[in-house]
Amino acid sequence: MYEIAVIGAGPAGASAALFTAKAGKKTIVLDSDQSVTKRAWIENHYGAPEITGPDLVAAGKKQAEKFGAEIVSAKVTKLSVSDGIVTVETEGGTYEAKHVIIATGMFTDLAEASGIRTKPGTEPRIKTVIDCTPDGQTNLEGVWAAGTVAGVSMHTIITAGDGAKVAINVISEINGERYVDHDVLKS
Ligand SMILES: Cc1cc2nc3c(=O)[nH]c(=O)nc-3n(C[C@H](O)[C@H](O)[C@H](O)COP(=O)(O)OP(=O)(O)OC[C@H]3O[C@@H](n4cnc5c(N)ncnc54)[C@H](O)[C@@H]3O)c2cc1C
Repeated sequence: MYEIAVIGAGPAGASAALFTAKAGKKTIVLDSDQSVTKRAWIENHYGAPEITGPDLVAAGKKQAEKFGAEIVSAKVTKLSVSDGIVTVETEGGTYEAKHVIIATGMFTDLAEASGIRTKPGTEPRIKTVIDCTPDGQTNLEGVWAAGTVAGVSMHTIITAGDGAKVAINVISEINGERYVDHDVLKS
């Protein structure tokens, strides 16, 4: 049983998993390796003057793994909730988690197959997104959404930021108080 399962390891998903794993939450990331970010050359990501999409995606995964997130190559086909536990079905097996963060980019097929409400997208080239609350909650108990699939502007700094935002909301819900993750420069 995982505390948090993240679906998608693009900027939104890996950023979320970095925060949840660093907060000591048992985290798994399931990814089907179809990130559109892999086609990007990025010069507008604050703090990273210029970077290729593949390098950014690889760096994000490495950061999450450094804090203990397990990254598994798998395509998730369905989510279902019962007694406060989310069952995560993949083509290769099933996982269980208390909370799930969907960060599937331009793909909404998983949400639709799981009875999660979607709505028309408003960003350029984005047809459909998950209909979630501003803090990322979907209509399925324990299931959250972040990044492009949650309707935010399709830029790495924003999708990564949204992944972090939703992760902090999930950690805060689990801890029962608002969570902050600050490291201090050693003098
Ligand atoms: C050609 C191009 C150029 C771009 N240039 C820039 C730029 O210069 N600057 C900028 O800021 N942004 C740029 N972007 C946009 C940037 O790539 C995206 O905004 C963004 O970061 C998307 O992040 P994400 O995590 O929401 O989605 P993605 O990066 O698409 O990640 C989603 C992940 O979810 C996985 N997934 C989907 N469904 C499932 C499932 N059922 N089971 C398991 N895994 C699943 C996918 O395999 C993928 O790895 C560009 C995009 C493109 C296409």
